Amino acid sequence: MHLRKRVLVTGGAGFLGSFLCERLLEEECDVVCVDNFYTGTKRNIIHLLDNPYFELIRHDITFPLYLEVDEIYYLACPASPIHYQNDPVQTTKVNVHGSINMLGLAKRLKARILQASTSEVYGDPSIHPQTESYWGNVNCIGIRSCYDEGKRCAETLFFDYYRQHKLNIRVVRIFNTYGPRMHPNDGRVVSNFIIQALNNRDITVFGDGSQSRSFCYVDDMIDGMIRMMNGPDDFTGPVNIGNPNEFSILELAEKVIAKTGSSSKIVYHPLPEDDPLQRQPNIDLAKKQLGWEPKTQLEEGLRQTVEYFKKNF
Ligand code: NAD
Ligand code: UDP
Ligand code: UDP
Repeated sequence: MHLRKRVLVTGGAGFLGSFLCERLLEEECDVVCVDNFYTGTKRNIIHLLDNPYFELIRHDITFPLYLEVDEIYYLACPASPIHYQNDPVQTTKVNVHGSINMLGLAKRLKARILQASTSEVYGDPSIHPQTESYWGNVNCIGIRSCYDEGKRCAETLFFDYYRQHKLNIRVVRIFNTYGPRMHPNDGRVVSNFIIQALNNRDITVFGDGSQSRSFCYVDDMIDGMIRMMNGPDDFTGPVNIGNPNEFSILELAEKVIAKTGSSSKIVYHPLPEDDPLQRQPNIDLAKKQLGWEPKTQLEEGLRQTVEYFKKNF
């Protein structure tokens, strides 16, 4: 008899989590999605609810969780600045209390556990592109700190459970990812610009738009995360997963206007506090250890994302 791997996805009703649940079901896993719907929505997973191998549990992972699984993907955490700054203390709690609970669960079960970390651990980086060996440049008392320091502390906890309790951990550092099912009101740049453009509203560029980001399409990201979970036994990471093609925010605004045929104008707003100037992953390690690199470039990814927002909003 074929025994399905039982996989827990925390934050499974979110943007990345919902695609991950979908992929794991395609790979014949038995998927448990845990989410408290803080930023996620049932709409993201409604098409999975009829699948007998998909189970949804409403739960806040800052509280203990007892269930039986073989693998844990730990994605639960608000990800956009608007959302994680809405209740910054909760953001730190998700990353610290949440990590302790999920690591405690993994320890009891001897389950493999993957942490969805972030390029934010590099802060406003002084080296470019960023490699995993760079320790980062993070303000510990700013408005982004609840997220940045929260994720850094989560990495610390992962590596201490690894050293102290011999846990089988995996840490991926996710760089800006975009695609269908991004939350329409979370203010992230790709979804914001697309919604503004589709409604012919002003496109709000913060600062002069010269700050850069490197945008990874969601399918590539999910592929990288699954490869990391199934990667070599001794490879804990951290490993950067992202698309190294770097664009200025102004270039992105222009591309979105072109893609949507919008009559929107670009307007300039002040740059938010501690907004990193540049971000680009060095992905040599992911290429070497996981044989992974992104396949979908911005033009194609934007096309699919625009289609989604056209249909749904
Ligand atoms: P998202 O906000 O769409 O998803 C997060 C999910 O976690 C939501 O469904 C939310 O309801 C759930 N959640 C939040 N707090 C919870 C709690 N206490 N208990 C249970 N569930 C909780 O964000 P996303 O873009 O899908 O990000 C997923 C993960 O990837 C996050 O950990 C994020 O930090 C990380 N990440 C994402 C990006 C990106 O560009 N999308 C970049 C770097 C890191
Ligand atoms: N925990 C959990 N589910 C489990 C096992 C543990 O939620 O199946 C939580 C538990 O609440 C504990 C935390 O994980 O507070 C850390 O567990 P660990 O065993 O590392 O620490 P201890 O219980 O010894 O404090
Ligand atoms: N940004 C912008 N206009 C917007 C939303 C964001 O110019 O309407 C900028 C923001 O200042 C940042 C970049 O786009 O420099 C990426 O922002 P996002 O919130 O998507 O991600 P993060 O800052 O966490 O990388």
